[in-house]
Amino acid sequence: MDATKLIHHPYQAPGGFQAVVPGVHKASTVIFENTAALKTRQWKDKSGYTYGLHGTPTTFVLEERLATLEGGLQTLLAPSGLSALALVNMACLRAGDDVLIPDNAYAPNKDFARGELAQWGISHRFYDPMDATALAGMITERTRLLWLEAAGSVTLEFPDLLGLLNVARAHPKLVTALDNTWGAGLAFDAFDLDLPDKGGSRGVDISVHALTKYPSGGGDVLMGSVTTRDEHLHLQMKMTHMRLGLGVGANDAELVLRGLPSLPLRYAAHDAATRQIAQWLSTRPEVSRVLHPALPASPGHAHWAQLCKAAGGLVSVVFDGARYSPERVDAFVDALRLFKIGYSWGGPMSLVVPYGLRGMRQFGELAGQADGTLVRFAIGLEEVSDLLADLEQALSALA
Ligand SMILES: *Cc1c(COP(=O)(O)O)cnc(C)c1O
Repeated sequence: MDATKLIHHPYQAPGGFQAVVPGVHKASTVIFENTAALKTRQWKDKSGYTYGLHGTPTTFVLEERLATLEGGLQTLLAPSGLSALALVNMACLRAGDDVLIPDNAYAPNKDFARGELAQWGISHRFYDPMDATALAGMITERTRLLWLEAAGSVTLEFPDLLGLLNVARAHPKLVTALDNTWGAGLAFDAFDLDLPDKGGSRGVDISVHALTKYPSGGGDVLMGSVTTRDEHLHLQMKMTHMRLGLGVGANDAELVLRGLPSLPLRYAAHDAATRQIAQWLSTRPEVSRVLHPALPASPGHAHWAQLCKAAGGLVSVVFDGARYSPERVDAFVDALRLFKIGYSWGGPMSLVVPYGLRGMRQFGELAGQADGTLVRFAIGLEEVSDLLADLEQALSALA
């Protein structure tokens, strides 16, 4: 048997085969019928396939489903949530431009501004997401991109999204980009935020989603997406996406496609369990603060209540540094049995990470806290009673 026979063995793409899930198509090379097809086929508008990096039937289906989930029109896939954030920064910003990032943004997005954008002649400033008036005073002629995040990473303040977008609307050249990972396209509608009774639609220009979290749901995939409603903005990002060579593997796309149908159910389950746990934590004398947008005392609760029905699967607590040293809080975290120590969230297993509060925030009540410790819990899909029992036994390690 020679290799040629094996490589050119007859194969017809399966017509007439229908399964519950879309097929997993793998390709770097895509074959053209003839040179005319090679020379004329368009890759930008999805009218044809040209090369694996430009998309396959599998990635196109995933993109379309994500656009539907988020209420956008076009989606691009990236190899991680962070690369999706970087893509937006690189596509929207040029030397001399300025970007505004919320104080409580996903920290690696702030690091990207400090570590990369600054060296390309792009300035950045961090703003207080709870203060739309202050934001209005920060926008200059050079400000091109406004990042938003709701709720904020780790500290979970829910910003005045409508107020911030109102400010942005006065500056037509300013692009708004939301890190929508927490809301997952389910907690609120990023592209249509106006309250029903006010009519009209007001939303962000770009939504970035770390699919690594809820859409994957398994703790086993890294992927990100960038969704827009604006054709021009989409094309601008698609060009940068192509030049950077950002592609995703077919098997990873398959896993996210498999996760999507159960996303609303899983999100609702994370939400219900997390509310119960947040409530319970707020009754504990050891804890000085519980951060969870659905709790009335949590920062931005009124903004959350105005826009959202769901509140996701994250809850953070603050331990007062005067009462509990960082070492004692670490002992509490180490004493947890069901909550595993690790980054990320959105999967079946509950996770926990401690963060020192010193220097973490520039604005809000957590700014200037010297030695407090924040512990963030990502609530998984275990029985709530088991998680509560685990928290209770581990809290005794604080004593
Ligand atoms: C996890 C996360 C990201 C980055 O996703 P990765 O796939 O881990 O790169 C971005 N934004 C938020 C809010 C996240 O929680």
